[in-house]
Amino acid sequence: MTLYLLDVAGVLVSPDHYIDGRRVASEQCFELRSPIDQCVMGHISEGSAADVEAAIVSAQRAFPAWARLSAAQRKPYLDRFAQEIGKRAEAFCVVESNDAGVLLSRMRHGVVPRAMQNIAWFAEHALGLQERDIDTEQARHMVRHDPAGVVAVITPWNAPLMLATWKVGPALAAGNTVIVKPPEWAPLTSSLLADAAEAAGLPPGVFNIVQGSGANTGAKLVSDPRLARISFTGSVPTARRIAQAAGANLVPCSLELGGKSAFIVLADADLDNAAATAALMYRNAGQVCLAGTRLLVQREVANEFVERLRGHVGKLRVGDPREEATEVGPIIHPRQVERIKGYVERAVAAGAELQWGGRPHPAGAQYYEPTLLTNVHQDSEIVQNEVFGPVLTLQTFDSDDEAIALANGTDYGLGGVCYGETAHAIAIAQAVRTGFIWVNSFGIRDLSAPFGGIKRSGIGREGGDWSFEFFCDVKDVVVPKKPFRASFSHR
Ligand code: NAD
Repeated sequence: MTLYLLDVAGVLVSPDHYIDGRRVASEQCFELRSPIDQCVMGHISEGSAADVEAAIVSAQRAFPAWARLSAAQRKPYLDRFAQEIGKRAEAFCVVESNDAGVLLSRMRHGVVPRAMQNIAWFAEHALGLQERDIDTEQARHMVRHDPAGVVAVITPWNAPLMLATWKVGPALAAGNTVIVKPPEWAPLTSSLLADAAEAAGLPPGVFNIVQGSGANTGAKLVSDPRLARISFTGSVPTARRIAQAAGANLVPCSLELGGKSAFIVLADADLDNAAATAALMYRNAGQVCLAGTRLLVQREVANEFVERLRGHVGKLRVGDPREEATEVGPIIHPRQVERIKGYVERAVAAGAELQWGGRPHPAGAQYYEPTLLTNVHQDSEIVQNEVFGPVLTLQTFDSDDEAIALANGTDYGLGGVCYGETAHAIAIAQAVRTGFIWVNSFGIRDLSAPFGGIKRSGIGREGGDWSFEFFCDVKDVVVPKKPFRASFSHR
């Protein structure tokens, strides 16, 4: 079988798996199109049962030697991995922009630097993992964070590089071996990660990629009892399937899922700042899990807020993500465009008022205008369901209690935003049931902080120590301080 490379705007990318330190092609392939102009970018290997088996065997074989290394011995490999990502920075930017429609400017200034940090930061912080002993009068508890084994990493298409590295970094730093199943609508930067891992000298089998669809390749991977962990980011229906498969084998899962987060604007907020931040919710064409897509605005300032937001949104440039000036890029797939259209049409038919947008954008078949719907009911599907497009709703409230009730009134609980006088906004933020919430800000994320959702937005936390707690088997080695004499009266 001949291996071939895709040419993505001058960058050569393998469409194949990376198993045991080698590229492996499948007989079955699927077509990959760019969201920018729907051109065919190439054909990607569709992982078969045999490919998944080979990846698991390879990761299992590599595990004992990688796990035996100390965190300090693993760190140079991971530092080189991060550096190799840096050496290919422009390739990652160009490829993810063409493949996933992420803004080239955001790739350059945000995503690629963060991807490097995701690897290097966790390598550094793993150094302190074995120094968490607990000293009591009776004994020394040597709390060990042992590598768990083979980790499956399943990622979505809206932030493929950022999310793969966010999981792979701590998993490898903790001494696990990894199999990544990238998203079938945007698989290419994960393939470039394999090039970086190889150039960094990661031993064969420590880092593997199996390409393919979720229903086929992904489902085969997550149902394997030899996995030690599954780290998944994606939608709620997929999470249910994965949790079911993992449950059969009692494999622990971390599930980072969708959101329908509230963006609360109190009457004492700096309205223009709040409006400028609200316009950011259209970033990545609204295909962002943590976006505050439900605007909840105190009634007395609602009209003024809408006008200020209209001013900011009117200046947004929708178009080709490869152009420096673009602020809102394409929708990933024709299916998603139809889904967004359907949500907006049904909302309008049910009585919602369009303040702006509500139709495809002339930039191309997969572009949709930034949209705001008012006069929406809390129980309606447009308020309750994740649209995952450039569509915001706005509701008003009269009291703090009402704002909190509206914010908490969905099945999701991922993020949130609250603008207002600081102490007031903090009080409201504390009452909102969610995994995280930004006060008078948006998007500040530190690798040491916990990230994840409650309710339908997920199970578990990743980030900082929370990632290590998930990717490690925690063991207590108990050493008594005084000679131990067996006795039935002991507890
Ligand atoms: P998705 O659930 O359709 O797919 C995610 C991944 O799961 C893909 O790689 C897919 O191939 C795989 N998959 C699908 N079925 C599978 C199965 N049965 N077994 C194993 N793997 C399977 O999600 P998507 O449409 O790619 O991504 C959008 C969703 O992701 C949105 O709901 C969004 O909110 C969520 N998301 C959440 C976060 C977060 O951190 N909480 C971040 C980004 C995106």
